Amino acid sequence: MTITTQTGRRAWDAIVADPASTLLCSDFDGVLSPIQADPDTASAAPETVAALNRLGTKLGKIAVVTGRVARKAVELGSFEKHDGLAEMSVLGLYGQERWDAATGEYREPEPPEGIAGVKAELPAVLAELGLANARVEDKRLSVGVHTRELPDAAGAFATLEQPIRSLAERHGLLVEPGRNVLEIRGPGSDKGDAVRALVAEVQPRTIIFAGDDLGDVAAFEAIARLREEGYEGLLICSGSDEQDALVALADVVVPGPPGVAALLNDLADALGA
Ligand SMILES: [Mg+2]
Repeated sequence: MTITTQTGRRAWDAIVADPASTLLCSDFDGVLSPIQADPDTASAAPETVAALNRLGTKLGKIAVVTGRVARKAVELGSFEKHDGLAEMSVLGLYGQERWDAATGEYREPEPPEGIAGVKAELPAVLAELGLANARVEDKRLSVGVHTRELPDAAGAFATLEQPIRSLAERHGLLVEPGRNVLEIRGPGSDKGDAVRALVAEVQPRTIIFAGDDLGDVAAFEAIARLREEGYEGLLICSGSDEQDALVALADVVVPGPPGVAALLNDLADALGA
């Protein structure tokens, strides 16, 4: 593991000097869990959760910040089985939902107006494009259309992008593109907003964020701005051959979820966890 930036090395030193003042945020898919064709089976890698568990008693706060439904991330992460994660939180749907391990409670707002209409029209839109086999993921407050399992995933993504944007706009909703997925959701929170809210709540000195995809760019940019305000920040990119948007922004690029686990274990070692 090599931290390539001076700001990143300074953040690492700050974490080691004062772990209790550190907020660790991580995306779920592609960071804690390997990407799977069927997102319902993308469980967090046990070695990565074990590394988080080691860090849980040392760091000030651990939070998963994901585009997923909070309940699904909690289920796929098995976080509640780990004593070290007794204070962690999972922010789902880009911060619109939340689960706290300390209480076991979920905060889950109502779906935005328009989502029901999108769900009703989507099958016909896909059928008209010859893409009726695209996987549709109902995320309650949003709808994901996945092209990963189709014969030409990239071609299908390109074919879908404009019609999906039009469908979303007709219902007053937005489109969030990701790795072989287009997600239709309401206006509101992005991961940058979610991170800023956590920072206001936790009041850390140092913020770590680990991400892999376009939805994480807002979090990286938020932390870059927080650095200008005097916080330390360590930006970790879980690298893949599907997406390189975070590479230039990151302090350290690791090879996918196994690399994330190794880095978190290095940090736990450095903290004597
Ligand atoms: Mg991801």
